[in-house]
Amino acid sequence: MNNNVIIGGGLSGLSLAYHLKNLKKDYLVLEKSSNLGGLCSSIIQDGFTFDYSGHLLHIKSKYTLDLMGKLLGKNINRIKRDAWVYMQDTFVPFPFQTHLYGLKKEIASECVSELLIAYKKDLDRTQLDSFKTWATANFGNGICKYFMFPYNQKLWGDLDNLTAEWCGKFMPNVNLEDIVKGAYSNSKKAFGYNSYFFYPKTGGCQTIVDSFVKKLNKNNIKTNYEIKKINIKNKTLNGEIKYKNLISTMPLKTLLARVEDLPAKYRAFERKLKSNTVFVFNFAINREVKPAKHWIYFPEDKHCFYRIGFQSSFSSANAPKGTTSFYVEVSAKTNKGLEQKIIKQMQEIGILEKQDKVLTKLWLKMEPAYCIYNKDREKIVPEIISYLETRGIYTTGRYGNWEYSFMEKSILDSKTLAKTL
Ligand SMILES: Cc1cc2nc3c(=O)[nH]c(=O)nc-3n(C[C@H](O)[C@H](O)[C@H](O)COP(=O)(O)OP(=O)(O)OC[C@H]3O[C@@H](n4cnc5c(N)ncnc54)[C@H](O)[C@@H]3O)c2cc1C
Repeated sequence: MNNNVIIGGGLSGLSLAYHLKNLKKDYLVLEKSSNLGGLCSSIIQDGFTFDYSGHLLHIKSKYTLDLMGKLLGKNINRIKRDAWVYMQDTFVPFPFQTHLYGLKKEIASECVSELLIAYKKDLDRTQLDSFKTWATANFGNGICKYFMFPYNQKLWGDLDNLTAEWCGKFMPNVNLEDIVKGAYSNSKKAFGYNSYFFYPKTGGCQTIVDSFVKKLNKNNIKTNYEIKKINIKNKTLNGEIKYKNLISTMPLKTLLARVEDLPAKYRAFERKLKSNTVFVFNFAINREVKPAKHWIYFPEDKHCFYRIGFQSSFSSANAPKGTTSFYVEVSAKTNKGLEQKIIKQMQEIGILEKQDKVLTKLWLKMEPAYCIYNKDREKIVPEIISYLETRGIYTTGRYGNWEYSFMEKSILDSKTLAKTL
């Protein structure tokens, strides 16, 4: 009998194992892939290090900062964000709403006057039931028309059923004064959860997960082992591994699908959990693109991608000198025909030049990528999670909890859970 069996050897599973070990509790990690790291893995190909799109560590808590210092030593850099929005054939600093000065005058003034109109109305700016209502109340029709709606439509798909529950953590916290000031001049104020980020000097994001693995007992980690069947009554996995506590970091939807004896009520919930798929086109060219940016958001419909990042700008070890490596993120059901479109559109924008030679390329698929925040999610996720807990099954991580979250939260939620178990 294993006391704490963890499904998934991504960052959440490994952080949980690490914290259980520190508390002198036992653990067994079961990972379906041959590699540990999940979405925090890196792939080294033809001398280039690619992550699963940009994977940058945003640290808020002192605990995480100290932990990273302990695990990574000097192999980490703190980097000031250099992010942009590209629209109307112009680069505007990110966040869009506090840099309206970078837009054509008539668009900036439309955004400001619509913002003031919205603020004159007695609206509830805290309601989170509808993303569209929340964004209109907080930013006005102009900012919504040019950025909030088209960008989020590209990323999430259906905006009509999207709630705003995720916005607090991910939308830069700005006020009316910041937006109006930013319509006239470039504000140097740092906005948003990611104005600074951390990134390993060498080895890409994989270095972070590897630093956890180094502290664990190899005998307590099993790779190439997929959980296909869970029996709640017998507390068994695949009919052969017995557990006391089961902790799942695999997607909540998959977890429900694999429980053999799930009550019908929760089986019906499984179908209601929705997510999108993100395809990432990683590639590198034989030229150093200058000035390099960290990443750029693309709200306009004419571009098939919603974000492009410069992988080589996070660390000089990610790409050989004299080259540039990119990740291009597209929220879509298939990547058929996307490669030619991406290259052509990047040439039209001026990021790529006709004579650039592609040195290497790598498509990655993230599915699920973003768990969709709709009214169903708000109601059923807490209900499923509390039912599972009564049966000794706990969930953690972005997909385990079916949420929009980030690496630091994975580390910290697993730390908290380790204490509870
Ligand atoms: C496009 C995108 C960009 C992102 N960028 C950032 C960023 O810049 N910064 C940031 O902090 N966060 C970012 N994130 C979020 C980050 O990826 C997650 O918070 C984090 O990786 C979650 O780790 P996890 O271990 O919970 O999940 P995962 O990484 O998904 O790990 C789950 C593991 O479970 C395994 N598994 C699944 N099913 C089974 C099974 N049946 N049996 C056994 N094993 C199984 C999987 O193989 C996987 O290894 C991004 C996410 C996306 C989608």
